Amino acid sequence: MISEAEARAKILEAVRPLPPRKMSILSASRTDSSRGEEALDHFAAEDYFARLPLPMFDNSAMDGYAVIASDCKKGARLRVIDEQPAGVDRKLRVSNGNTVRIFTGAPMPAGADAVVMQEDVTRTGDEIVINVDVEVDQFVRKRGCDLGEGQKILGKGDRIVATKLALLASQGFAQVSVGGEVRAAIISTGDELAMPGEKIQPGQIYDSNSVLLQSLLRRSGAVAASAENCSDDSDSLRAATQSAAKNEILIVSGGVSVGEHDLVQSTLRDLGAKIDIWRVAIKPGKPFLFGQLGRCFVFGLPGNPVSAFVTFLQFVRPAILRMMGAINLDLPKIPAKLTVDLINDGERAHYIRGKCENGTFAPIGRQESHALFGLSQSNALLRVETGESLKAGESVHVQIWE
Ligand code: AMP
Ligand code: MG
Repeated sequence: MISEAEARAKILEAVRPLPPRKMSILSASRTDSSRGEEALDHFAAEDYFARLPLPMFDNSAMDGYAVIASDCKKGARLRVIDEQPAGVDRKLRVSNGNTVRIFTGAPMPAGADAVVMQEDVTRTGDEIVINVDVEVDQFVRKRGCDLGEGQKILGKGDRIVATKLALLASQGFAQVSVGGEVRAAIISTGDELAMPGEKIQPGQIYDSNSVLLQSLLRRSGAVAASAENCSDDSDSLRAATQSAAKNEILIVSGGVSVGEHDLVQSTLRDLGAKIDIWRVAIKPGKPFLFGQLGRCFVFGLPGNPVSAFVTFLQFVRPAILRMMGAINLDLPKIPAKLTVDLINDGERAHYIRGKCENGTFAPIGRQESHALFGLSQSNALLRVETGESLKAGESVHVQIWE
């Protein structure tokens, strides 16, 4: 049995970022319905720098009048000589005593150094009367005040969220280079498994792990390429494993323990897989397996749903993120006040499932590896180290997974 940190390090050493590809910044196409997937929630495969300043030119922040501020004592009268809409630079000029009607986003005419809102003037024909004090630069958005040319806008390994995509668009990029696609196969093993929707026989249970793993894969940014159920029988497991190994990763749930019906490890070995990790000191999740079958990374997760969940988040998720080119592989962590005393006098680090809300963390449901209902009520995990003793009211850091 190895420690969780050792297991994680071994896995992250084995997996490498996949070759990058270009992705569109927009999936919904204006003209072509066949346009592909967008880059949202993928990871930048290179650094990006501003090639345009933002704003790109001095422009008006209001619908109003472009003026020379020193002309504009309260009560001053100005002649409206022209109009400057957004979308075209009419190369206008404002001189003393004159003003240009201007609209939000329109380029500032030469000579003008401020904009007066239309609500702050009285217009009669071609004349306006200024009803407020006017300061230089008011309601003018200066070229480059938000972003300068050459400034870094996206770092290699950063997650491309909606606002980053918008920023790329503002720079005229239609595509962005992102990390490779991770395709994952799921095999759920067990003679007891029935598919949701099927009629169940005495002694059977519904397969919930396939759904859990498919959802966790999607949330991690991977593609759930296939999900297959397999009985505890070497031949079918062998066939399913062989065909699943064409993917970047294979996740097998159940059958990784040491019972007579746990055939995953022997099947993998028969197929020539290299087993790098078998058993990790975490609770739940001890019977965890990691290996390589050809170029496919294989994760064997315990069949108990909570164990499958915890081992996915601690081992599979970081591996996927690394393959996708992410820098930050950790779940977000936030501080919270513990509501109860907790002691871990066992030999494995314990992941407590709980509810994190309003700055507190309260364990929830049965802390047992089969207890899916309790897990379904939780939104956070607290890792309690071997030998650690925590007191109610103490501040702890919890992993938020949803
Ligand atoms: P195993 O790891 O195969 O020994 O299974 C451990 C426990 O998890 C048993 O109670 C199984 O019935 C249960 N289990 C295994 N696979 C699944 C699954 N796909 N969905 C829900 N429970 C499962
Ligand atoms: Mg089983």
